Amino acid sequence: MGSMLLCGADILIRPASRWAMVKNGYLGVRGEVIDYIGAIKPQADYATVKDLSGHLLIPGLYNMHTHTPMTLLRGIGSGLPLDRWLREAMFPVEARLAPDDIRTGTRLALLEMLSSGVVSFSDMYYEPEFSAAEINASGMKANLNRPIPAGNRALAYKDNPKAAASLAFYDTFNNAGDGRILVDFAIHAEYTSYEELVRPYALDCLQRGARMHIHLSETVKEHEGCRARYGKTPTRWFLDLGVLDSPVIAAHCVAVEAEDLDILQDHGVTCVHNPSSNMKLGSGFMPLATMLDRGMKLALGTDGAASNNNLNLFEEMHLAALIHKGKSGDPTVVTPAQLLDMATVNGAAAQGRPDSGELAVGKKADIVALDMRKPHLMPRSDTLALLVYSAQSSDVAMTMVNGRVLYESGSFLTIDAERVLDEAAACALRLGLPEDPLSNHGLNG
Ligand SMILES: [Zn+2]
Repeated sequence: MGSMLLCGADILIRPASRWAMVKNGYLGVRGEVIDYIGAIKPQADYATVKDLSGHLLIPGLYNMHTHTPMTLLRGIGSGLPLDRWLREAMFPVEARLAPDDIRTGTRLALLEMLSSGVVSFSDMYYEPEFSAAEINASGMKANLNRPIPAGNRALAYKDNPKAAASLAFYDTFNNAGDGRILVDFAIHAEYTSYEELVRPYALDCLQRGARMHIHLSETVKEHEGCRARYGKTPTRWFLDLGVLDSPVIAAHCVAVEAEDLDILQDHGVTCVHNPSSNMKLGSGFMPLATMLDRGMKLALGTDGAASNNNLNLFEEMHLAALIHKGKSGDPTVVTPAQLLDMATVNGAAAQGRPDSGELAVGKKADIVALDMRKPHLMPRSDTLALLVYSAQSSDVAMTMVNGRVLYESGSFLTIDAERVLDEAAACALRLGLPEDPLSNHGLNG
């Protein structure tokens, strides 16, 4: 069992749910867990001692809604609204994705997330079997799922091969990698599903004690379409079909109504805020301030790189802070502490990882070291505000998951980054992705 003592860094802790700091402290890691945090050097011996003077240790970040292989689709369809973006830009390319593309897109996402301080993410994509092997090999944590697409409505649930595949994926991969990989159930959205499929699938989720990952009221159009189809909101539709009987992660929640907020809160649903994606697609704003006021469960996500166009949780924290203050005209809504909760411990809880999400003795050693010797991080009058308003993902100097360093000072220890970058470019060529319009303007002679 390996052990490591991190010395000289400031350590962001959260005793009794309030953020606090150990200045110039010591953090001991033994095996997968943190076994010491303090201002005084511990008595115990550690195999490795790492000097992190000038750094700040924070808990690793949780990207609670993404579609990792979509890194390959980064940038295409920019400027289209959600329905046209999906049908005209995404679906035609996605139909051509081969297993190797999904593997490469996933590896590209892992590089991007590790180098920006993400230790775990909740993914939703077709054929997650290919992603699962890559994620397992990388040492990261993830909650995966195999969403059930609508398919042939005439088919009974028990005969639906996609539903069977979703359950088989759960049975095969849940708790893989010594519990780093967890499997959830997933329904893409109300508008891509139907009752005869959703009701029995929700029951299977409940009977396995699993979690459910859904898209919910991402746009007004989708929300009103559901009202027109069923005479109820998507939230009420999912409730009536038993989906909310399991722990649920609901991405977006932009077009939710007061009645929806009551239902989501009563059922302990974690609403995942994706501010970049919602603004880029012109979808609108989740009512974050109201939700925080009510004490609802909240987390942060990037959505896929195709609608963002990156996987940068620091940017999501920053945007979430700014847009809700600007929109409400009230600078007191949404504090840095609340945003850090959303980006760390709330994500871990929603993923079913009560042993993760905080720097505390006994918790898993999921640690990010930020290099604070940067002009934009000086002086240190308010560290939480610095993290949300000033820090850049490029300030991440080290990312550790379960006591294992996976990224340090620009180097990836479990992924051949150069090879992945070349493969990603090759995939784009093979998929026939549109050429960069700049390349047609004669700029290169
Ligand atoms: Zn999404």
